[in-house]
Amino acid sequence: MNEGFTPTVDAVSKLIQEFNKLPGIGPKSAQRLVYYLLRAPEEQARLLAEALLSLKQEISLCSVCFNVTDSDPCLICRSNHRERSKICIVEQPQDILSLEHTRTYNGLYHVLHGAISPTEGVGAGDVRIKELLQRLQDGTVDEVILATNPNLEGEQTAMYLNRLISPLGIKVTRLARGLPFGTELEYADDVTLTRAFEGRQEF
Ligand SMILES: [Zn+2]
Repeated sequence: MNEGFTPTVDAVSKLIQEFNKLPGIGPKSAQRLVYYLLRAPEEQARLLAEALLSLKQEISLCSVCFNVTDSDPCLICRSNHRERSKICIVEQPQDILSLEHTRTYNGLYHVLHGAISPTEGVGAGDVRIKELLQRLQDGTVDEVILATNPNLEGEQTAMYLNRLISPLGIKVTRLARGLPFGTELEYADDVTLTRAFEGRQEF
């Protein structure tokens, strides 16, 4: 056997391991993907490899809102068609995708890249709060919409931000906390149901 010769099985198990590290992909799915790629045309594997590399080489964070972008500032921050007086605060860049998908919001965003979680040792200094406060200093923003997740960490973060931002004379709003569409009351948990009730709006 030549020195440095790598048997195919190593290449296969290595890729299975890598796929297995991805969220939502268990060992079975990882195996299926690898054997699919083995049968697929070489071109397809090459395009996948190139896309993976360019993800890290070409994508960075917007220096204003910290969304993922291939240009700085990002398209949203650069746009002349967005309301610059509103900033919506989200935990992760993918939250922007979900909100943009609804086409109900036309302001700017700010990505915290996490949420405050004392139990996991994540403090205010570990998320992009300082940068947010800097953005609020020039007086163009009159509303901050807190769209952090409706869970313990998201709530703590929202309360913390409200305490910091309200005294600046900026309106602070929170996404209405309601039942997910398509849910039946019988299956809703207590916290969700209580908040949906508290957040009831005039019909
Ligand atoms: Zn941006």
